[in-house]
Amino acid sequence: MYDEISAGAVLYLIDENSEIMYLILNYNYGHWDFPKGNMELGETEIDTVFREVSEETGIVDLQIINGFRQQISYKYRKKSKLVNKAVIYYLAETKSKKVVLSFEHVNFEWQTFEKALQKLSFENSKRVLRMANEFLLTPESMKRSSVKS
Ligand code: ATP
Repeated sequence: MYDEISAGAVLYLIDENSEIMYLILNYNYGHWDFPKGNMELGETEIDTVFREVSEETGIVDLQIINGFRQQISYKYRKKSKLVNKAVIYYLAETKSKKVVLSFEHVNFEWQTFEKALQKLSFENSKRVLRMANEFLLTPESMKRSSVKS
């Protein structure tokens, strides 16, 4: 159904003021988005997240937060072909602030929720960030009670 499937991460760290800071990347194309990339043959979604985050940011210490998985989809034109693409996002925490960019990006920022929301270019990514932020701010006890048996 999809021509391309990517996986990526809403990656955050807790800074010295105990604030959640999200990592956003400035793509060569000009837009701001999360680290992500195409799934390779034989990879699980989580494998792709680890590989892409490592390749695109140099960050290898990340902890996937259980219970968060969001999929977005969009279409874009590659030469004359219309590409139907899905991206699956996980939520992950890191302790590493240092970022080493690859050739695919020109800049990065660790930003608060509000600033990251303003800076992200696409509405579907903003939606994922809103859900991730809400998820992190929901007390554990409420998450458990909302799980249907
Ligand atoms: P990947 O990082 O998954 O390997 P890529 O760098 O090859 O992918 P995309 O980031 O998907 O490519 O960008 C391809 C085109 O799709 C660009 O023109 C970009 O503007 C557009 N695009 C990227 N992300 C979104 C989105 N979330 N919603 C709508 N259009 C998007």
